[in-house]
Amino acid sequence: MSDKIEGGCKCGLVRYSGIRSDLPMFRCHCRDCQQLTGSGHSEMVPLVAKSVSIGDALKTFEMAGGSGLSTFSGFCPNCGSPLIRRSERVSDCIYVHAASMDDPSKYHPAKSIYSEAAQAWDEAVITTEGAGTK
Ligand SMILES: [Zn+2]
Ligand SMILES: [Zn+2]
Repeated sequence: MSDKIEGGCKCGLVRYSGIRSDLPMFRCHCRDCQQLTGSGHSEMVPLVAKSVSIGDALKTFEMAGGSGLSTFSGFCPNCGSPLIRRSERVSDCIYVHAASMDDPSKYHPAKSIYSEAAQAWDEAVITTEGAGTK
């Protein structure tokens, strides 16, 4: 049951494609995601890392993750759109930002993570129950 995902940045310089992972899509409220998106949270779609191809122009910013291993944010150097996240801890997965997909309606968040870090003005947490139809 593979599902090919294609997407890219606002200006079109960086395009990506890959196969949807079986892992759940999720909303992340952590402080990193707040700062990287300029919003209350990120909306992430996991892809199978080895299936992903991304344009060479992608620029990557490295951060220290909570586990002590590095996490990375990939974005377009021209228009600044955030495109992907990955971490050394989960090396078989590359996460793309949901709205960067050509068809954002494919996004069905199944859960929220780091919800304790959510800002008071950010929307309520999605629970694992009832959500996440694939
Ligand atoms: Zn761009
Ligand atoms: Zn996060």
